[in-house]
Amino acid sequence: MSAAISAEAIRPGAAQAAARPNFIAGRWAAGEGVVARKLLNPADTAEIVAEVREASTAQVDAACEAAAKAFPAWRATPPPDRARVLFKFRELLEANFLELAKTIVRENGKLLSEAKGDVRRGIDVVEFACGISSHLMGKNLPEISHNVDSYVLREPLGVVAGIPPFNFPAMIPLWMMPIAVACGNTFILKPAEKAPLTGTRLVELFALAGLPEGVVSAVQGGREVSELLIANAHVQAVSFVGSSAVAESVYRAAANAGKRVQALGGAKNHLLVMPDADLERSLPALIGSCFGCAGQRCLAGSVVVAVGGKARQDAIVEGFVKAARALKLGDGLDESAGLCPVLSPEARERVVSWIDRGVKEGAKLALDGRGAKSVTRPNGCFVGATVFDGVTPEMALAREEVFGPVVAMLRAQDLDEAISLTNHSRYGNSASIFTSDGAAVRTFRARIQCGMLGVNLAVPAPMAMFSFGGWKGSFFGDLNAYGPDAVDFYTKKKVVTERWFGAEAPKDGWV
Ligand code: NAD
Repeated sequence: MSAAISAEAIRPGAAQAAARPNFIAGRWAAGEGVVARKLLNPADTAEIVAEVREASTAQVDAACEAAAKAFPAWRATPPPDRARVLFKFRELLEANFLELAKTIVRENGKLLSEAKGDVRRGIDVVEFACGISSHLMGKNLPEISHNVDSYVLREPLGVVAGIPPFNFPAMIPLWMMPIAVACGNTFILKPAEKAPLTGTRLVELFALAGLPEGVVSAVQGGREVSELLIANAHVQAVSFVGSSAVAESVYRAAANAGKRVQALGGAKNHLLVMPDADLERSLPALIGSCFGCAGQRCLAGSVVVAVGGKARQDAIVEGFVKAARALKLGDGLDESAGLCPVLSPEARERVVSWIDRGVKEGAKLALDGRGAKSVTRPNGCFVGATVFDGVTPEMALAREEVFGPVVAMLRAQDLDEAISLTNHSRYGNSASIFTSDGAAVRTFRARIQCGMLGVNLAVPAPMAMFSFGGWKGSFFGDLNAYGPDAVDFYTKKKVVTERWFGAEAPKDGWV
């Protein structure tokens, strides 16, 4: 392995993250781009968390050059040696666990418990990547013909670009970087411009774990910097997570340029509550799914389908509204808070305009979060839990992603109708059923058109040894994020068919 980046090349602490947030060829650099963004604390917009200037075109090019230059030696590094860096990275993540979680709270606004989950789920993927030597093993079949053996080799792709969204500042970069790098690729992260500090710190810790210069880089920016990365000739593959419209355009641009691409998009996740569901035990899961991270999760429940006769439907709606009303708004560091702010004043405005639209469409506002405020954080970007009843499948509220703490209640007579309502969606990320009927579960899992299903749990995120991805408008590509699909995504295969003259087996075989 070539020399690792020295600690001196690394910044002394998080305070410099905003001043020199681009990590290019093993050195931290201030952005030289035109655009600079102020990041406000979502819980208190009077506090400027950081001001981050974008990387310039020349800096993005330099990062791609450095990554291409680092590739041959990193590719030639034996997988067990690469795995050792991953083990060290894991240690550093554990050592800095709380600091990372608190950075997430400040830049994204989610509750500390949610931020800890964000980091923990990311570490799960690092742990998967620690086993890279086993994951890279190919298949083989000796004597595929007389005296002929065949086997599969996996090789890394080269330079990979990662473009994550703002809502999981640790977990989603960690869906990408560890497996890409463990497979022998070099990696450039463009953190989300709306929450860039955590991802930048992850790159720093990964470099400190012992990566040679140029194996990981960070460049800051938004759409333009993404586009520069996607178009750069050194970049062989793009891993993208974000909203569906952008995911689709990134997929097309990268695929048109002949690059490998996975682009995970938005969602409208349905939670089906059957007549026989244990409502008391199901409600905390439903509420957690819909209002956790203020609804800013791609697995957030955003449509609850109350299934059964009128009385049962009413009981589900009433129980749900009562539990949602009890959520206390607060700063992510306030342990008594149950609902965090949304990302920014713009996000707040967008969510409120969705609520206005729902009212205009004729849905019944059973719980209105528009005027909600936090007593302790009056300058926070809060929207209270909001529930619409009487929503019809044609309403935009039932179809479009709101990405806020806003829930549409649909009503269905039976499972068949509930499944039709769910499959009507143009998205297909996840769906969950709450029931005590195994036959209903079998029907649900056979017929629902989504990539991730939950039974009596409402955030069915696959663990790190599985892979993550939706169907329909929620995913553009073939290979899902993390887990075994990611090993396939970040490698290409060769099949070797070989014969050695002079080593032929005798006609009646070896003894
Ligand atoms: P976004 O689409 O605005 O941005 C995502 C990333 O794309 C950012 O890094 C941004 O800088 C970049 N970007 C923006 N416009 C671009 C363009 N035209 N071309 C190239 N890159 C561009 O998403 P967001 O607001 O940061 O995140 C929220 C969205 O992400 C929601 O729709 C949510 O459902 C989705 N999401 C999906 C998953 C999943 O696994 N499917 C997970 C998390 C979030």
